[in-house]
Amino acid sequence: MSRSFKDIMDDARRLVPEVTADQVKDRLKGNGHDVVLVDVREKEEYREGHLPGALSLPRGFLEMRVEEAVPNRDAEVIAYCASGTRSLIAGKILKDMGYRNVVSMLGGFSAWKGAGNEWVQDRQFTPAQLQRYSRHFLLPEVGEAGQARLLDAKVLLIGAGGLGSPTAYYLAAAGVGTIGIVDDDVVDRSNLQRQILHTEERVGMPKVESARLTLEALNPDVKVIGYRERVSSENIMRLIKDYDIVVDGCDNFPTRYLVNDACVFAGKPNVHGSIFQFEGQATVFYPGRGPCYRCLFPEPPPPGAAPSCAEAGVLGVLPGLVGCVQAVETIKLILDKGTPLIGRLLHFDTLSMEVKQLRLRRDADCPVCGDRPTVTELIDYEEFCGLRGGHAEEAPAASA
Ligand SMILES: [Zn+2]
Repeated sequence: MSRSFKDIMDDARRLVPEVTADQVKDRLKGNGHDVVLVDVREKEEYREGHLPGALSLPRGFLEMRVEEAVPNRDAEVIAYCASGTRSLIAGKILKDMGYRNVVSMLGGFSAWKGAGNEWVQDRQFTPAQLQRYSRHFLLPEVGEAGQARLLDAKVLLIGAGGLGSPTAYYLAAAGVGTIGIVDDDVVDRSNLQRQILHTEERVGMPKVESARLTLEALNPDVKVIGYRERVSSENIMRLIKDYDIVVDGCDNFPTRYLVNDACVFAGKPNVHGSIFQFEGQATVFYPGRGPCYRCLFPEPPPPGAAPSCAEAGVLGVLPGLVGCVQAVETIKLILDKGTPLIGRLLHFDTLSMEVKQLRLRRDADCPVCGDRPTVTELIDYEEFCGLRGGHAEEAPAASA
């Protein structure tokens, strides 16, 4: 037996209560219970304006996406569309799927707007951006709101070397809007085995300039700010001040302690990575939420005990692996999604291809982030690491 559109609508009306815009307003005000606003219009319509906090679940994707977006089938779901027709049909589908508490807004978005209620418009993406980030838009965890966060984010990379290269590359590809890079070095041919931001023809060029050329060619949305200087106790607070997240890709202990202490003092998350020959590790130091580098390593190793890549060698692809973990963690922090690597350290051994996860705890006696810190301002890190004084130790390079 065939059914007319009218039959379908009558069915839906029997199952799905309709509420007016005023009633929706009251329900949204009543706190203490779980109200989910579901906008079932097409993406283009949502983009033009929607109710504050509404989830965008276009009618065509509703069945596919709703379970992930609204796991609680007892939640109070208010569906709306442009005029109240599509949301009624959507409401019936939700009822069929086991959502017990579904209503549809009479008159839809036009009634809501017409009554002078508050509505919002998300960031307007250009047609090129809609194409570029289309795979992000498909992920509910990113979506247009997440992409807007990425575009607004500011990330500072310490070093444009082995770790900084893949991190910067993927952050730029993801559309992280502002990427600062601190590195005082120039491109050397021996870098090219792993520092994939740079090219043969840029040997001799400042790394920050080479990085800018590569990243802006990949994604014109990204603003790359190069700081051709060596991070030090004198400049680091100024350098990190305007950034949300710091990514440490340095290859030496004085800089690592310096970046750690500065991030603790400034309260900035520090996405840490380090590499040695075939082994690498990554973690996130987040002041107030987990340990810092000094909780793990209160004392630096004796000078010469932990040689750098320049002395000990490194497998070229290793920083790619670790730097990509740093990029993932940075993006998760920006989106505020998933479980960050706070209090956990990933250790990679590429020869055996074993990955270990170590649990880390904040040390209440830590000299910088402990309960009674003894180090409350930046110190001389070369001296702390025993690199100043009698023996003529070569100044360490800026980046891994
Ligand atoms: Zn600490």
